[in-house]
Amino acid sequence: MLTVNSIPSPFGRLAEQDRSRRAAGLRRELRPRPAESALLDLAGNDYLGLARHPRVVRAGADACLRWGAGATGSRLVTGSTALHAELEAELADFTGFEAALVFASGYAANLAAVTALTDAGTLLVSDAGNHASLIDGCRLSRARTEVVRHADPEAVRKALAGHGGEAVVVSDAVFSVDGDAAPLPALAAACRAHGAALLLDDAHGLGVLGEGGRGSAHGAGLAGAPDVVCTATLSKALGAQGGVVLGPAAVIDHLVNAGRTFIFDTGLAPAAAGAALEALRLLRAEPERAGQARAVARGFHRRLTSRGLDATAPDACVVSVRAPSPQEAVDWAARCRAEGVAVGCFRPPSVPDGVSRLRLTARGDLTGREIGGAVDVIARTAPPGGGEVSDGPGQDP
Ligand code: PMP
Repeated sequence: MLTVNSIPSPFGRLAEQDRSRRAAGLRRELRPRPAESALLDLAGNDYLGLARHPRVVRAGADACLRWGAGATGSRLVTGSTALHAELEAELADFTGFEAALVFASGYAANLAAVTALTDAGTLLVSDAGNHASLIDGCRLSRARTEVVRHADPEAVRKALAGHGGEAVVVSDAVFSVDGDAAPLPALAAACRAHGAALLLDDAHGLGVLGEGGRGSAHGAGLAGAPDVVCTATLSKALGAQGGVVLGPAAVIDHLVNAGRTFIFDTGLAPAAAGAALEALRLLRAEPERAGQARAVARGFHRRLTSRGLDATAPDACVVSVRAPSPQEAVDWAARCRAEGVAVGCFRPPSVPDGVSRLRLTARGDLTGREIGGAVDVIARTAPPGGGEVSDGPGQDP
């Protein structure tokens, strides 16, 4: 009889990949987050400090008690509750779009939007800095994808002009690595000149940009336009979990019928829907929260650059600081952690240009003292040449 140990592993090449990851300082490890931590958290995406807001947590718990721990099925079978409908109506109203559809995650929302709005004859024009979920949507779609230089509306125009037929331009509205905003007016103008649709991912803009946090599209006067569709996550500024697609009612109706991650995925959990809805209501009642979070981000940038660090100027809440190499980024983040500050560490292949970075996220509820203390730790623990640029493999779009 064959024993388990005598079966040869078909996964031999994984060990080789693991060795080269270790050698390049690119191996990732899971570190469970303690429920209570003395660390100052500059790594999460809870931009408005709502993930632990008593009203948001209570609303999540109440929804769980009323509707159950899970959605129990696809939205088209048993997974739609009155809570989902309420959340969709309020998200559409808040952001200025005609209709909304919520998903189990922002990732799923992006996959559905890109794939369901294109077919084999469509040209997808995709910014080189786009989030992995948009990239994967392009890969899953049957459309031809042209990747264009980051934040370059002229390159978008050229790609559209070279095609002539149906086209969709996809872009993060705020890019997740460096926190820069896309040039929305110029992108929209390029799309309109060629009759193309504009699909924006506002994961980092909803709750932070636009009047009172109504999002990037609202801020640029694009919300509710017939040629603009916007996705977002409920897991960052809204402090909950889930995703949403916002757009014309006909587009949303189409996604109900053709969005594969809507149809074949279990619906958004009631607890997440309840928490997101309460967070949205809080944001409406306290519109100053968005501006406070942006001011904290600008404060981080000002103080980091005044200490000689190469930090990106934030358009929303993300500030990234360049590190000389992947290993030095990991070691730098570990030194920060040892001194009480948790920061994100982005290395290839998560970064589009191969340059490793520490990634800090601003939270509106941070005090000046916390910001100053954190910047002090980051500057004090910086590797020699902390602002210099290294090279490495880029992201494969
Ligand atoms: N788009 C962007 C730009 C993101 O940063 C993220 C989250 N990392 C997502 C989409 C995915 O959202 P979610 O985490 O809700 O799946």
